[in-house]
Amino acid sequence: MSKAIPSRSEDYSLWYNELVKKAGLAENSPVRGCMVIKPYGFAIWEKMQQTLDKMFKDTGHSNAYFPLFIPKSFFSREADHVEGFAKECAVVTHYRLKNDEENGGVVVDPDAKLEEELIVRPTSETVIWDSYKNWIQSYRDLPLLINQWANVVRWEMRTRLFLRTAEFLWQEGHTAHATKNEAIEETEQMLNVYADFVENFMALPVTKGVKTANERFAGAVETYCIEAMMQDGKALQAGTSHFLGQNFAKAFDVKFANKEGKEEFVWGTSWGVSTRLMGALIMAHSDDDGLVLPPNLAPIQVVIVPIYRKDEELAAISEVAEKFASELRSKNISVQFDKRDTHKPGWKFAEYELKGVPVRIAIGPKDLQKGTVEIARRDTKEKQFVQQSDTVGFVEKLLQEIQENIHNKAKSFEQENTHKVDTYEEFKELLKKDGGFIYAHWDGTSETEEKIKQETKATIRCIPLNSEKEEGTCIYSGKPSTQRVLFAKAY
Ligand code: AMP
Repeated sequence: MSKAIPSRSEDYSLWYNELVKKAGLAENSPVRGCMVIKPYGFAIWEKMQQTLDKMFKDTGHSNAYFPLFIPKSFFSREADHVEGFAKECAVVTHYRLKNDEENGGVVVDPDAKLEEELIVRPTSETVIWDSYKNWIQSYRDLPLLINQWANVVRWEMRTRLFLRTAEFLWQEGHTAHATKNEAIEETEQMLNVYADFVENFMALPVTKGVKTANERFAGAVETYCIEAMMQDGKALQAGTSHFLGQNFAKAFDVKFANKEGKEEFVWGTSWGVSTRLMGALIMAHSDDDGLVLPPNLAPIQVVIVPIYRKDEELAAISEVAEKFASELRSKNISVQFDKRDTHKPGWKFAEYELKGVPVRIAIGPKDLQKGTVEIARRDTKEKQFVQQSDTVGFVEKLLQEIQENIHNKAKSFEQENTHKVDTYEEFKELLKKDGGFIYAHWDGTSETEEKIKQETKATIRCIPLNSEKEEGTCIYSGKPSTQRVLFAKAY
């Protein structure tokens, strides 16, 4: 059978794109930079969404919904915010079309010009803080802990399925607090929620840190992030959590009366993860045969494939298979019994490998005689025969083992490809050779950061939160530095 997708070593980028399409996750749309998320891709996203939603609710947040369109004037209220997003905004100027045969059919009706142009939300701080002005009067109204699941539009020039699209799905948390400390605690809490999700559900190790001033969210005082390593050694920003200070409260005049009756501006945070996480999941774990999905997020955790020639054989196998399926389902394991006669077992094996289904059970007439089944795991491709009486317990344990193994593999890869360097020569050498994460000293200036980026394409991914203070000198300028920062080429 011809290979469905190119190998990673041939062309990593093509491998990724083809994998996304062939595994039925997403495809390009007629509008450049936008994508169609197909049912299998959406099923994975739904699992992410459900898990995160529960984590947000467990930490006290409620969901709400705000409009897609934002009056243009709202953007100019926060100077940094408008500057950051101006370059990538979609703007609605008219509200009607008309038929104009002479000019080639349907045209925008010039008589239907909007009085105030509308921005398709690239993020919702402005429209949300405009509402918060009405919702918050006193300290009793705080904290306000809101999340929204929505789509946003950022007119990106270089796009790639899931990783960077012009329209993407995400959640955005927007919270308001009475004190600075409380807002910072919230910002850090949500970063930890993201890290927990990515590590334990996506099976991907992350580095937590804060962004440099250059990379900070437009309008934030501090941007916290988690960074993950992909299989080509590049970094991917997997989530951000922003401490907004009082910036948006001041821009939208959101004040509260404190316990002493004095008016103060409210403190804010915002935090988001997007369909980019799908890209991270695919890129980090998959291999040349297709997706490798961590069981905690796999829409189908176990597939059962019957191997038969005659209808009587299928009937006997089905009886056993249906019994396993219902027992596994009673343990909250999602199972698909694929008894379609339109496809051969070999085709099905390749298809479920491509789709990353963690566990495959094959049952044939010989198994019925011997009381066994054949169980194959997707991550290592190992196969073994298991007694039918042990199957359910075996599969339950195996799913946990696969989840751990995928995480450990990604963790070892990250460790093997993480280096400390002390000179710019070594730094450049390493980037040329294998890339990866590089911990090096930096003098703390935007100029140095910019120069290194221009010369090597590597950027400061973050100033890690947990790294120790260490005296050293900047690899570029030789000026003193107190801590190593994380450099990498990034998506
Ligand atoms: P931000 O609001 O810029 O902090 O981004 C919030 C989240 O959305 C982060 O986790 C980003 O990784 C993600 N994100 C930003 N831009 C895009 C994009 N064009 N496509 C997909 N995800 C994005």
